[in-house]
Amino acid sequence: MRRLGRQTLLRQLAAAEGGFASSLITRQLHTTPSDAVKMAASTCVGTVESRSVTVPIVDIQPALKQPQNFYYAAACKAIHPEDKLVECCSEDGLRFFVQYDQLCISTGSQGSTFGIPGVEQHTNFLRDASHSTHIREKLVDCWNAANIPGRSPLERDRLLHVVIVGGGPTGVEVAGELADFVDRDLRKIDPGRARDMRVTIIEANELLGSFDASLREYTARKLTKAGVQLVKGVVKEDGSVLPYGLCIWSTGVGPTPFVLSLPFAKTPRGRLAVDDRLRVLMPPKLRPDGHVWADGEKGPGPKTMKEVSMKQDEEDTDQHRDWQPVGGIYALGDCCAQAENPLPALAQVAEQQGKYLARVLNAQAWSLGAAEPEPFQYRHLGSMASIGGTSAVLELGDAKKPLVSWGGFTSWVAWRSAYLTRLGTLKHRAYVAGDWTLTLLFGRDISRW
Ligand SMILES: Cc1cc2nc3c(=O)[nH]c(=O)nc-3n(C[C@H](O)[C@H](O)[C@H](O)COP(=O)(O)OP(=O)(O)OC[C@H]3O[C@@H](n4cnc5c(N)ncnc54)[C@H](O)[C@@H]3O)c2cc1C
Repeated sequence: MRRLGRQTLLRQLAAAEGGFASSLITRQLHTTPSDAVKMAASTCVGTVESRSVTVPIVDIQPALKQPQNFYYAAACKAIHPEDKLVECCSEDGLRFFVQYDQLCISTGSQGSTFGIPGVEQHTNFLRDASHSTHIREKLVDCWNAANIPGRSPLERDRLLHVVIVGGGPTGVEVAGELADFVDRDLRKIDPGRARDMRVTIIEANELLGSFDASLREYTARKLTKAGVQLVKGVVKEDGSVLPYGLCIWSTGVGPTPFVLSLPFAKTPRGRLAVDDRLRVLMPPKLRPDGHVWADGEKGPGPKTMKEVSMKQDEEDTDQHRDWQPVGGIYALGDCCAQAENPLPALAQVAEQQGKYLARVLNAQAWSLGAAEPEPFQYRHLGSMASIGGTSAVLELGDAKKPLVSWGGFTSWVAWRSAYLTRLGTLKHRAYVAGDWTLTLLFGRDISRW
């Protein structure tokens, strides 16, 4: 085991991972955010190549190339707050420790399964580039397998059925992309097989539940017209079956096992509990110097997936009024929530929290931080989702009272422009613009590698 010495500000910040929010912690020193994951639906069918939207962290955060800063491609296994150490392990099994003064945890979330048996083994999550590559391969495999001579009609039917569980923005975007792929590209290859291809969305509540009612209706109309079947229901063990060749599971997010294993307090939904200044919380255990420290126990809240509650975090606020910040440890992004006011798992939340923490920590580093920092204030900028073809829905402003909401071609242009301008580097924007142009001119292909 190797132990690394105490490091300076940037290194202290970079300890926990390499995702969206931590890139932005150091943004005040230089960076550009990456919205690559939002294009996952497009990469599933090859509208955009995964490589075009996958940006190396050192390009997102050029400060990591400076010799005084470090980036370790390794998994964080544990945090030891008593010794201010992060325990890490490289992919080839080398264990090492990183010492910190300030630690920011932004390890994100993972797809939630609600404990339903078989979801992990038999469905596909869509959380990163490797998932979309896998989905694309599986889709092509099913398309090819359905055409083998001797295949029974029932089996052919199953192979040509794509089921998407979850009608949120990701599920809807994938359904729209798939319907478009079938109509514009697969139809040219084999019209009969393309006609038999089916896409179904299963949603327990409303399609695009967080959007305005008129946009929800517009989306449902557009998807139905494109041939997508909308089923209202819940996937459960009641004996009913819906045969499929490919199932994409997109029902929202839950905590990762790593976050559940941490020795800090968690909300009922398993996110790290933070206060309004993003400081990680614990029931108080005062040291003689007056500081509050985590005591090495796992902390209150769920510790395993089974214990993660489905009730809303804010239903449980009375239980933790006395929780206090653990010295020098912050959390941001999907992995954490303020129990009284849990924010959605969105890139814009992680981005704003990253900028806020960068300001707070920079001020502290320059000894301007004697005063308590202002609480973090989230400003919801809006939501958008493409719904297939050249249509999208868009809402600007507060989620509960949007300033503007509209759907159609102009929203689709706004959707594409927003994502293109926010991609990590100029090179990646050029890749994506190139992919879109090639798709428009020559269609998507069904090659498999
Ligand atoms: C398909 C899809 C579409 C989306 N579309 C939108 C959208 O349109 N708009 C929007 O606002 N948001 C969208 N989101 C949500 C958005 O991507 C997340 O909210 C955002 O990425 C959260 O940032 P984060 O830094 O908290 O976590 P992430 O971006 O998930 O980063 C976490 C990182 O931590 C790493 N990590 C995890 N555990 C460890 C460990 N133990 N050690 C080391 N590293 C670790 C992970 O590998 C990952 O790189 C979308 C998400 C998905 C999956």
